[in-house]
Amino acid sequence: MVVATPTVGVLALQGDVREHLSALESVNARAVTVRRPAELETVDGLVIPGGESTTIDKLLRIFELRDLLQARIKEGLPVYGSCAGMILLADRILDGTADQQTVGGMDVVVRRNAFGRQVDSFETDLDFVGISDVGAGGPVRTAFIRAPWIEEAGRDVEVLARIPAVDTQGRQVAAAGRIVAARQGPLLATAFHPEITGDTRVHGLFVGMVAGA
Ligand code: GLN
Repeated sequence: MVVATPTVGVLALQGDVREHLSALESVNARAVTVRRPAELETVDGLVIPGGESTTIDKLLRIFELRDLLQARIKEGLPVYGSCAGMILLADRILDGTADQQTVGGMDVVVRRNAFGRQVDSFETDLDFVGISDVGAGGPVRTAFIRAPWIEEAGRDVEVLARIPAVDTQGRQVAAAGRIVAARQGPLLATAFHPEITGDTRVHGLFVGMVAGA
C-alpha cells in the first residue's frame, strides 16, 4: 500500500527531536512525537534521533517501549536511526557500557564513539548511494558528533556511504573507508546527523521508504 502522507514518529525520550520533526515535515510527512506505547502503535515509520544511546536505551525500558519497538521492527516497521539511533538499531555493539542493550534489527556491528577524541565532531561531504547519485544530487553535507561507525555489516546490509579517503581540504582521513550509512530492508541507519546541516535528502529517502512500505 502506498501512503501519500505517511505519519512518521520521532522517538522523543532524549536527543535532537525538534530538528527531525521539521526535516520530516519539509519532505511531506506528518511528523509526530512518540513517548508512549499507544503512539508507537499508530505510526507508519519511526526516527530514532541522535543523543546518548545509553540514556535512550534506559528510557526505552522505563517507558515500556522497548519490547513493542522490537515487535514492530519484526513486523517490518520502517525505522531510521541517526547516530545514537544507529547504535540502537545494531544487533551488536562495541565499546558500549556494561549494561547497555540495543533494540537491534540490523545485522551490523557498531562501534560507539568510534572517531575518537580529536575529531569527535566534524562536518564532511559524503557520496550517498541513492541520493548523491540521483538527479541533481551531489554529495550530502553531514555532521558527525561523537559518532559511531559500522565496523562489520552482514550479507543483507546495503552499504550506502563510507568516509572518503581525503577531506574537502585534500588531507588524508584516518577513518577512510569506514561505513557510515547503511540499509537493511525497512531499516536505515546513519552515523551522522543530517537534520542539522539543512540537507533533507536523507529524510526524503526515509519517507519514501515509509510511503512504499
Ligand atoms: N556517542 C553517543 C552515544 O554513544 C552518540 C552521539 C550522537 O548521537 N550524536 O550514544
